[in-house]
Parts: sequence; C-alpha cells; structure tokens
Amino acid sequence: MTTNFSADTFFDVAVIGAGPVGLACALEVQRRGLSVAVLDKGALVNSLIGYPTNMEFFSTPELLEIGGHPMTTLHYKPLREDALDYYRRVAQTEKLTLRLYERVLGLEGEQGNFTVVTDKGRLGARFVVVATGFYDVPNYLRVPGEELPHVTHYYKEPYAHADQDVVIIGAKNSSAKAALQLLRAGARPMLVVRGPEISESVKYWIRPDLVNRIKEGRIGALFNSTVARIRAGAVEVNTPEGLRTLPAQHVYALTGYHPDFSFLAALGITGGTDAARTPTHNADTLETNRPGLYLAGTVCGGLNTSRWFIENGRYHAQLIAARLAGEAAPELPEIVQQVQSGS
Ligand SMILES: Cc1cc2nc3c(=O)[nH]c(=O)nc-3n(C[C@H](O)[C@H](O)[C@H](O)COP(=O)(O)OP(=O)(O)OC[C@H]3O[C@@H](n4cnc5c(N)ncnc54)[C@H](O)[C@@H]3O)c2cc1C
Repeated sequence: MTTNFSADTFFDVAVIGAGPVGLACALEVQRRGLSVAVLDKGALVNSLIGYPTNMEFFSTPELLEIGGHPMTTLHYKPLREDALDYYRRVAQTEKLTLRLYERVLGLEGEQGNFTVVTDKGRLGARFVVVATGFYDVPNYLRVPGEELPHVTHYYKEPYAHADQDVVIIGAKNSSAKAALQLLRAGARPMLVVRGPEISESVKYWIRPDLVNRIKEGRIGALFNSTVARIRAGAVEVNTPEGLRTLPAQHVYALTGYHPDFSFLAALGITGGTDAARTPTHNADTLETNRPGLYLAGTVCGGLNTSRWFIENGRYHAQLIAARLAGEAAPELPEIVQQVQSGS
C-alpha cells in the first residue's frame, strides 16, 4: 500500500464497470487472494438495467454464468429480470466491494501505484481492469431533430404507444423485437431500414415473425431508406421513390452503440487504427499499451460490439486474474480462442 491511501482505499485491483464481465473479473481476482474494488458510474449491472423490460436473452442460462454460480430460470432462456437477480446474488455471495454511482474520470500513476480518479474521490490500485462495455454511447444518426424529446436511442417497453404512430430506425434484433412488441401493444410501427431487407443477423426465431408481419402489412417498412430529418410528429425519409413524410408520435433510433473512446483515451489507452477502432491491447494477456491496465469484455472489440459478449467475454476474467496472481495462463475454451485468433 502507498502512503497516500488507507487500507480501505487501496486495492490490489480496481475494476471499472460492474457489468457481468467486470463482476467476473472481480470475483476471480478475489478468489486468488487479491483485494479488489468494483466501480460503476451507475447501478450494479447498469447496462442490463437499461435493456427492455422482460427482455429474453438469446443465450441459455449456463452460458451467462460467472464464477461457477448456477443461474436458474423458469424459462428456456433467461429474462433480463433473471439476470439482474442473478448477478446481484453473485456479487453479494462473493462479498465483492462495490462502489456504485461513482464515475471514473481518469487514471494517474503507474503499474503498482495507480490512482483511479472518480467524481467522488480517489482510489489506489496496483492494477486496473477496464470492463466498461459499449452501451452508454449510441451511434447517432446525426440528422436534424435527433435531439427532440420524442426521439430515443433506448427501447424499454411498448405500453405507452398504444394507438400511436411509432417509427423505428434500424433492422437488427433490437428493432425487430421492438416492432413486434409495439404491434402487439396496439401501436402502428413503421421500420426505416438502410439496407434492402431485415438483417440476416436477426435471430432465427424472430426474423420470420417480423418478415411475415411486414408482408401482411401490419408492420410498415421502408427499405433502402435513410432518415433525412425528424420534426415534432413526423419523420422525413429519403426513399428510392423520393422524400416521404411519416407520421411519428415517437421515434426509436435503434442503430447500435459503441464504447466510449474518449474515456479510453483519458485512461491513456490508444485507439486502434483499424476499422473497428480496436483499443490497443495484447490479445493473449488483455494488457493495454499502458502497463498494468487491462481490458475485459465487450470494450475489447471497439466498434465490433458483437465480437465479445457475456458468453465469451466472461473468460477474460480467468485470463486476467491468473496473470495478476502470477499463475500460468489458463486453457481457454474454443469459443474464446477462435475470437482471439480472429477466425
Ligand atoms: C438487448 C441486448 C441483449 C443481449 N443479449 C445477450 C445474450 O443473450 N447473451 C450474451 O452473451 N450477450 C448478450 N448481450 C450483450 C451483453 O449484454 C454485453 O456484451 C455485456 O453486457 C457486456 O458485459 P460487460 O461487462 O463487458 O459490459 P456492460 O455490461 O456494458 O458493463 C459495463 C459497465 O461499465 C460501467 N461504466 C461505463 N463507463 C464507466 C465509467 N467511466 N466509470 C464507471 N463505470 C463505468 C457501465 O455503467 C456498465 O455498468 C446483449 C446485449 C443487448 C444490448
């Protein structure tokens, strides 16, 4: 411990981000006898709190488990609420030290003697793990009117939109699910899709439902179309047939999210020059260009936010914990090795 910190403010490891991967990192580190604190700018598993009400994960429960704690669910696939309950129980069972609603702003010092600077104070750590995910920064459309109050980049539930015209921008899983839910809650959903069809990446059990509802005319869809402008009560869309004005009491711009690159830069992590802007890190060790500072989870993929998710990102915890505890690197499952090797 350095003289600047007391025992309760200096840890072997500080983990930034209390998402599934950040929690996995903390418990693996703690099990190896190292002290650890987890900081989050919001609540425990803050990103999952922002997901739609009763959202069904596409993963089966055992693939979302961390630290070997069994995840139970009454359903084939867990709901958002199952996962919220599960990760909270794991954090409590493992007696993790949590500092919630505390945003990390920067990082001073060096390996062995870092100072994590937050909006509430400072914390000392020998090593730091960044597991800040991707869900805080939407991919903005950058069109006039996007800042209007009836435009949102996060979809929660359909009930407020009965008998309303709702425009949904995007054609991936989130848009598909939102359009179907809105229809069934009595709204009039209309999709605006940049490409020629609903994305092939939409899950195989959702896509046919949506495609058939579009064929029936119960969900509207404009393909090869882009939003030109949003105004109160309407969205102007560039279509192959020219400009069209759609009625819209609400607009969901579900065009994805990306890691907070300015935050990573503030920590001293250089941005990659590749198309995904992959933050600089060693794929085998997850150490960044700043010695002692590690990346874990979705943030590792940069703009490629589907590269690392809970199923495979949770293994980052074992890799980092073993290294920080001076153990040999663990054998990782094939799903992780494949992503690491880029195959
Ligand atoms: C709708 C939806 C459904 C999904 N379904 C699945 C699925 O079925 N299976 C699967 O494996 N994956 C799924 N994913 C992906 C998965 O949820 C993410 O990959 C996962 O949450 C990543 O975990 P993480 O711990 O890396 O990041 P996150 O869960 O995003 O956690 C990052 C945390 O960091 C915090 N943070 C950010 N910046 C700061 C800061 N400056 N200071 C302090 N804290 C900060 C955030 O508040 C957040 O709590 C889904 C994603 C979405 C959006």
